[in-house]
Amino acid sequence: MSATIDKLVHATAAGNQVRLMAAITTELVGEACRRHGTSPTASVALGRVLTGGLLLGSGLKDLEKITVQFHCEGPIGNIIAQSDSSGGVRGYVSNPEADVTRLNGRGKFDVRALVSGGTMYVTRDAGFEIGLMKEAYQGSVPIVSGEIGEDFAYYLAKSEQINSAVSLGVLMTVDADEQTEDWGSRPEFPIERLKVAVAGGYIVQMMPSAEEELIRDIERVVREAPSVTEMIRAGLNPYEILSTALGDLNISPLDETEPKFYCQCSRERALHIISALGRAEVEDMLAKDNGAELTCHFCNERYQIRGDELSTLLRDSSME
Ligand code: ZN
Repeated sequence: MSATIDKLVHATAAGNQVRLMAAITTELVGEACRRHGTSPTASVALGRVLTGGLLLGSGLKDLEKITVQFHCEGPIGNIIAQSDSSGGVRGYVSNPEADVTRLNGRGKFDVRALVSGGTMYVTRDAGFEIGLMKEAYQGSVPIVSGEIGEDFAYYLAKSEQINSAVSLGVLMTVDADEQTEDWGSRPEFPIERLKVAVAGGYIVQMMPSAEEELIRDIERVVREAPSVTEMIRAGLNPYEILSTALGDLNISPLDETEPKFYCQCSRERALHIISALGRAEVEDMLAKDNGAELTCHFCNERYQIRGDELSTLLRDSSME
């Protein structure tokens, strides 16, 4: 595996007529897929949503968060990603084992077949966890494509009135030398050995001030650009990906971060959740199982709570 370090950049171009976000997310998508044990096609779907959520979240301030939810009609169920202002992102799919074993007509994992319609929701909120809730904003659109990147572009156009080009990619591999792109003609691929080789993406947003001619030029060069996974495999950094995708627009960097798979869950929070179940429930857990187990949806971390910890919770007289 190449030694890519994940990076998220935020920039403008053409004198603020264009806003740009680009990211390499190989490590964090790999970690998410390992944690959840996702099938190859579910890995590609989850990786695209995590990357899209991270890109949408670039430029968030302090306590702001963005949650992207794909409520799919297809076998994958829900795909969820949540990102924060520090470049932390976490997420999961409700059916990680769902898969389609054949490739689509272009020799790629058939994400569309796993998703196949539904609704996409994007929620922006701030400070909820410390009780400083700013009015949450939620937009939703039907899932029109199922390829994820096109759905992000549709959401931005319809719900936020921002014309955007969105490219999201996850390439799976068996090892560094053998890429899935060459497997189109193979009857079977060694699914259990597949890993995330590279992942990343970019979003090009046209600001209301963008001139018609500029928009047409950008649409053309983006269409002709190599795929984002090809560019990452070739060793390009996020700025170079943007320059390659956009041609010679003058790019002005705004900020960059090292994004990470990051979950806010902790043993303390797990105990808090159990305590909120109430005295009767906790006494029952203690009597029946002498403990409790909690699994975090977002990161699949398991918390084994011991009997003596439950007893300590019960000694707290504030528990109802
Ligand atoms: Zn967690």
